[in-house]
Amino acid sequence: MPEFQRICLVHYHEIGLKGHNRSVFEKRLVKNVEGLLGDFPVVTIHRISGRLCVFLKEGTSYQTMVDAAEIIRTVPGVARVSSGYKCPRSLESMGQAAISALGEAGEFATFKVAARRNHTNFETNSMEMNRLVGAVLCEAFPEKGVKMKDPDVVVGVEVVENAAYVYARSVRGIGGLPVGSAGRVVCLLSSGIDSPVACWRMARRGAVCIGVHFSGRPQTSDASEWLVDDIAHVLEGSGCIARVYVVPFGDYQREISLLVPPSLRIIMYRRLMFKVAQQIAAREGAGALVTGESLGQVASQTLENIRATDAAVDMPVFRPLIGTDKIEIIDMAQQLGTFEISSQDAPDCCTLFMPRAPETHAKLDDVLAAEAKLPLDEWLEELLQKVEIHDYRCAAYKPRKKAQAAQ
Ligand code: ATP
Ligand code: MG
Repeated sequence: MPEFQRICLVHYHEIGLKGHNRSVFEKRLVKNVEGLLGDFPVVTIHRISGRLCVFLKEGTSYQTMVDAAEIIRTVPGVARVSSGYKCPRSLESMGQAAISALGEAGEFATFKVAARRNHTNFETNSMEMNRLVGAVLCEAFPEKGVKMKDPDVVVGVEVVENAAYVYARSVRGIGGLPVGSAGRVVCLLSSGIDSPVACWRMARRGAVCIGVHFSGRPQTSDASEWLVDDIAHVLEGSGCIARVYVVPFGDYQREISLLVPPSLRIIMYRRLMFKVAQQIAAREGAGALVTGESLGQVASQTLENIRATDAAVDMPVFRPLIGTDKIEIIDMAQQLGTFEISSQDAPDCCTLFMPRAPETHAKLDDVLAAEAKLPLDEWLEELLQKVEIHDYRCAAYKPRKKAQAAQ
């Protein structure tokens, strides 16, 4: 049997992608997929009628193709990845490619063929192709059944200008929009369960995510920073994070704990975090902050406290998890692959100088009065001098030039 070239067909299905938007979206998706397949034997990636086609080198193994498809499916913007072969435009080749593709589709009992001609200069029409390729498959897989409605596997056959694509194995993608199609955001990233998920949700809507982590250092060890680095590496695997700013925050929390009433400490820590994050957003040209809060989960996540922290900045603060509960967040963290990392304990600034009875219904006036005693401008400047930047691979991100960032 001849060896055909392996391909992965990448489907996307966001509605409303018309005209100019569509080609911007497709080009972005090509770059993002390309950036993540650096270690794979990819010849090229083409855009073909509403899909992308990733061409793998001749001789690529089944396992390598499966591994590539596993990465592609996690890339924001990808709805489905089908794997199979490119073959010559003859019915005989298509039949052979279909046998190989179906043989690699995994466990199944029923199948059908769905053929289509993107070029009508091919003489056989799609009904006829369905019948002919179907007959070849029935002979090769006599124990399997043909089923028109809801078969286990659909064998796709597509005839294009100079070739045909035949595929059967198909896995679902995470959907959404390609990273880089919806601007930049700054995500407050702890080593906890929620914030990595919040960041991921925003990346899935097309935002380039820049993390900011507040470490308890030098009042605590740097353990939380390592966990955040591990989390960032997971997000990097699907192009969902570009860089992380680490801010040594422990000394400032200590100062706050000495200068403001215990019940308002947490709100004050958080307001300062937001102010630092806002400055980083300005540097990066980001349009919003993102947190992993969900309503009522802990004392700082009441409506009043959310209002009191939001008032510290004058940019939108997104909370993609606000209406979800912990079980749902844990499910998402497992799907993302950060749950195990986030379940490890590390002292960070969250555990430092915590009051016994935090305010759950803070009044903004009281907060502002307490904050007026703090040398905030001075602190902000010092904190921004102390940030450490860690970069991650993200094809959709380019650092801004110094002059731009200063604006
Ligand atoms: P998470 O699991 O994301 O840590 P949480 O349930 O522990 O959330 P909080 O500790 O109240 O909740 O934090 C709420 C949000 O504030 C977090 O989701 C995150 O966005 C941000 N945040 C908290 N601590 C830090 C930190 N050390 N560095 C950066 N952001 C933080
Ligand atoms: Mg936390």
